[in-house]
Amino acid sequence: MNTPKRAPLPVRGRIPVYQPDLTGNERRYVLECIDSSWISSLGTFIGRFEAAVAETTGARQGIAVCNGTVALHLALHCLDIGPGDEVIVPTFTYISSVNTIVQTGATPVFADSLASDWLLDPADVERRITPRTKAILPVHLYGAACDMRAIMAIAQHHQLKVVEDCAEALGTHINGQHVGTFGDIGTFSFFGNKTVTTGEGGMVIANDETLAARLRMTKGQGQSLTRRYWHEILGFNYRMTNIAAAIGLGQIEKLDAVLARKRAIAELYRRLTKHLPVTFQVSDPDVTSSNWLVSLLLPPGTDRERLMQAMSDQEIDTRPVFYCASTMPMYASQERFPVAENIAARGLSLPSYPLLSDEDVTRVVDALVKGLQAQGLAGSAG
Ligand SMILES: *Cc1c(COP(=O)(O)O)cnc(C)c1O
Repeated sequence: MNTPKRAPLPVRGRIPVYQPDLTGNERRYVLECIDSSWISSLGTFIGRFEAAVAETTGARQGIAVCNGTVALHLALHCLDIGPGDEVIVPTFTYISSVNTIVQTGATPVFADSLASDWLLDPADVERRITPRTKAILPVHLYGAACDMRAIMAIAQHHQLKVVEDCAEALGTHINGQHVGTFGDIGTFSFFGNKTVTTGEGGMVIANDETLAARLRMTKGQGQSLTRRYWHEILGFNYRMTNIAAAIGLGQIEKLDAVLARKRAIAELYRRLTKHLPVTFQVSDPDVTSSNWLVSLLLPPGTDRERLMQAMSDQEIDTRPVFYCASTMPMYASQERFPVAENIAARGLSLPSYPLLSDEDVTRVVDALVKGLQAQGLAGSAG
């Protein structure tokens, strides 16, 4: 056999930003739903998945809903937030955190982020409190954790409610305490790219039993928890299906292994990019991140679109971090949020799913290096 002049390229596919691992009990549990015909929102997987999330987070109650956005709306509604109220929210977040405030009739008040961890700046929160402020909505982005000690101190001092958006932070702890259990309510998303997925899905967690009962009743059309077709309060249909919960249970059974692999991937990215002029989120030492999406700031002056195209040409998908809500048409504000806007302009999220091999991570970094070199932003020794 002739030795080829050049070794053939190994067959390697495109690396997406995220891809769920459904190789555990997910399939078996879904088939149980179908075989038993319990495919709607009654069925044993709902309670089992809720209990698993409660156990994982250390919250007394987990209440399953059909996505992470309605989880936020349900939380705000059940804390009696509505017209005339102001809710302080980071401008640098996913749009749900802001839209759901408006959906209650309340007004979102944007705050800036910290340069270190990219998350809600407690000092800026304090400056934005008015007599109408009713709640704070910290968002634990990319798996990092907001400074909940400072935020809870402000909330207690001003008697404000706190809803923690933990959509990206299942598995994130501060001093061993899971995020979502510091404030009144924590909310989760189980969209396809989240650490645990149910396709579409969400959860609210709460420690207060009265509040938990209200959340549970409200998500199910306001129906009494003990008397069917008796509707005591205004409610919504925000229920999760048993099929979604079956997938979620299969997923959460593997959570420890998924988090460990994601941590190793995040560490490998940091090690392989040490020589590059990029900056990662910096968390306090007492924070354990879920490493949802490994994200970094590109050097000032990088043409992000061009870099992403260059990486895509090498079959590596990436995504920009969120744009600031205060720069979007429906929330357009003249006010500037210098820290958040700088992060939004320069941030890039890298492929971060648990099935990535070390070789895949190396491929991503190689593509990043080449893309930066093409703009004269990384040395050729890279
Ligand atoms: C994913 C996400 C949501 C919304 O979740 P959905 O399940 O997509 O509705 C809310 N907030 C943040 C920060 C998210 O990342």
